[in-house]
Amino acid sequence: MNFHYQRTYQGPVRAVLLDWAGTTMDFGCMAPAVVFMDVFEKEGVPITMEEARAPMGAHKKVHIRKITELDSVRERWIKAHKKAPGDKDVDRMFKNFVPLQEACLSKYSKLIPGTKQVVAALRKKKIKIGTTTGYLKGMTEINKRDAAKQGYKPDSTVCAADVPQGRPYPFMCLQNMINLEVSPVEACVKVDDTVPGVEEGLSAGMWTIGLAISGNEVGLNLADWKKLSKKEQDARRERAYTRMRQCGAHYVIDTIADLMPCIEDIEARLAAGDKP
Ligand SMILES: [Mg+2]
Repeated sequence: MNFHYQRTYQGPVRAVLLDWAGTTMDFGCMAPAVVFMDVFEKEGVPITMEEARAPMGAHKKVHIRKITELDSVRERWIKAHKKAPGDKDVDRMFKNFVPLQEACLSKYSKLIPGTKQVVAALRKKKIKIGTTTGYLKGMTEINKRDAAKQGYKPDSTVCAADVPQGRPYPFMCLQNMINLEVSPVEACVKVDDTVPGVEEGLSAGMWTIGLAISGNEVGLNLADWKKLSKKEQDARRERAYTRMRQCGAHYVIDTIADLMPCIEDIEARLAAGDKP
């Protein structure tokens, strides 16, 4: 046979899957970072904000393990404890992490500017809203409650504990498709502020959008971001855009407020026969 025939989805975007911290709430993704720092401080091995943020997006227990695997942290741990950090240490720190995180989450649950407007614009286009998060069930419930109070109610929420593996695996995205009864994957768009979160969307075969400014990459709350000079903002923006692009995001934008032009562009590309 001389010809190969292929099926192409040319319909509209049907679902947008949004991350929580750093995407729709908690500008700067501050809540988990400060608690990871607390937990390691209690172990006698203080870590920097940068070390705390390095694995951001993963399941929180995986995140703790990944921090212990950073060369710099490992070295200081061995100095303080006379042995390398192991599974028991990770288990203990995770146990300490959960109540500390739950206790302070509401302090950081303000919606990121533009979230409500963008969700309303998506709903107007009959696009369903799903969510994924590296938070555990109890933490996710706190976020959902705080978001609802501010007028944001997604149609589906899946957390890392609901699926066999969290990010960068695609399972939370795929579970959202089931919950929302939406297909195919080409009709879905994943939005996230972390590298594992972008990888999650790409692993699922979805269009994937990275957020450079509102989340983990810049790592500043809105007030501190606004305090930076234009020159400092540009330098941080450029670094964040490069990181997000290099992990394969189809689009990189500053914050969720800039999402709608991407959705329109994706719909034009789908109509033209393009795939994620
Ligand atoms: Mg996030």
